[in-house]
Amino acid sequence: MGYTFLRIASSAYRKGGPIKNLTRGYATTHEADLVVIGSGPGGYVAAIKAAQLGFKTVSVEKDPTLGGTCLNVGCIPSKALLHNTHLYHMAKHDFKNRGIETGPVSCNFPKLMEYKVNAVKALTGGIAMLFQKNKVQLIRGVGTIMNPKQVQVKTDKGVETVNTKNILIATGSEVTPFPGVTFDEKQIITSTGALSLSECPKKMLVIGAGVIGLELGSVYQRLGADVTAIEFLDSIGGVGIDGEVAKTLQKILTKQGMKFKLGTKVTGVKKEGGQVKIDVEPAKGGGSKETLTCDVVLISIGRRPYTTDLGLKNVNIALDDRGRVPVNNKFATSVPGIYAIGDVIHGPMLAHKAEDEGIVCVEGIKGMSTHFNYDAIPSVIYTTPEVGWVGKSEEDLKKEGKAYKVGKFPFLANSRAKTNGEPDGFVKVLADKQTDVILGTHIIGPGGGELINEAVLAQEYGAAAEDVARVCHAHPTCAEALREANLAAYFGKPINF
Ligand SMILES: Cc1cc2nc3c(=O)[nH]c(=O)nc-3n(C[C@H](O)[C@H](O)[C@H](O)COP(=O)(O)OP(=O)(O)OC[C@H]3O[C@@H](n4cnc5c(N)ncnc54)[C@H](O)[C@@H]3O)c2cc1C
Repeated sequence: MGYTFLRIASSAYRKGGPIKNLTRGYATTHEADLVVIGSGPGGYVAAIKAAQLGFKTVSVEKDPTLGGTCLNVGCIPSKALLHNTHLYHMAKHDFKNRGIETGPVSCNFPKLMEYKVNAVKALTGGIAMLFQKNKVQLIRGVGTIMNPKQVQVKTDKGVETVNTKNILIATGSEVTPFPGVTFDEKQIITSTGALSLSECPKKMLVIGAGVIGLELGSVYQRLGADVTAIEFLDSIGGVGIDGEVAKTLQKILTKQGMKFKLGTKVTGVKKEGGQVKIDVEPAKGGGSKETLTCDVVLISIGRRPYTTDLGLKNVNIALDDRGRVPVNNKFATSVPGIYAIGDVIHGPMLAHKAEDEGIVCVEGIKGMSTHFNYDAIPSVIYTTPEVGWVGKSEEDLKKEGKAYKVGKFPFLANSRAKTNGEPDGFVKVLADKQTDVILGTHIIGPGGGELINEAVLAQEYGAAAEDVARVCHAHPTCAEALREANLAAYFGKPINF
């Protein structure tokens, strides 16, 4: 039955339509080994892995398309806009310096958005095909846990019941509301609204200079908006970023035209005379209050776990003080047979973290050994230049009183970055002073989001800085800067700087 359904899903996908209305239209009962509630990167990856391991797997999704926050209103649409606005910026401001003559360059805003929509459509439809290939059965509707062995799904045609041996909660997160503010998604917007504006605002304020605020602020700044990011803290980039990297990023983004108001608290947001007024004051108190005006304000102050209608009370699962589902190191909740992964549990809210937890969780249900290293999860800010890091920052190590050494290498001295005209930034490696074991790697520079994966591999395998420094790296590549930073950390001196 599942196969027939998925054949229909696949043909609808080929016609470019959403998966809506493809669920069987009669009330029925299903039997499963595992029901995964939520088809974001955590849930869909877990469902596919479970099916590959031989579990009869049902995926339950309430939204019209698969892929959750990441594919629909997160990672993918934001990267489509970041990539294409970067190309626009290059064509408008940089091509001439490289001997490329174009005529006047302009942005077709609706086309830019259409490209993003198509990128999302291709990838969300791709999950439907992967479900088909791996024989994951999809039921579209809101899933509620009735008891540890049963999930009910409210579809638009009625209620379907799934009796199951195991349940995996992968219901993700939602935007954190801002007290007293109603989002209209036109002038007072969340990240979701920022991904679908109908035109580029003239003046945009961004509340929260974390990863999402910086990325989406960059998109509109490149398109010509006057963008100011307001941040409560004294630095940008969010949790875990190394202080020196954060300062460098702020300097580079400022040079690009973005403005910052740090150490600033927003006390009110209201619409007045077609504009939005934002009341601010110094975060530390004292000083003068101010009212800022803009066409559009993006409020990006974080996300919170989503458990609405999940039925946790039916199985006596209590949330922790931050609204998260508590789990142990095998992702098991307090109720046998019920597991949780991704944004809805502890840890950084990142797609790759959710995916890896999903795989480890279902392998654990299968009885395989489980291992998940939270110290080796990379973070990336997809601005230009990109920022990528893994492991401890200098601030972390100082707080822990750990003796460490620093190896740094600037992209200015890297032949590929210099040749490409992308000399901003550096690689910084932090290694244990006695053992040389790598404790953290911080990159700001060209392709930082790709380069960081080599550092993650090294850190996951417990490499010393010397190990990376002695690995042959292709020339000329930006990855040589990572090698040189490791050389500087273990030997004290790089070659090319
Ligand atoms: C603008 C933006 C940009 C981002 N960029 C990045 C990035 O570049 N890299 C990165 O790693 N992360 C990024 N993130 C974060 C990333 O999107 C999340 O960490 C990731 O999607 C979490 O995956 P998840 O599977 O836990 O949950 P989600 O992706 O939130 O998926 C949960 C799914 O569960 C469904 N659901 C919820 N309750 C029910 C129910 N009761 N019944 C049925 N279905 C239900 C929801 O409809 C949803 O589809 C970004 C987020 C945003 C907002």
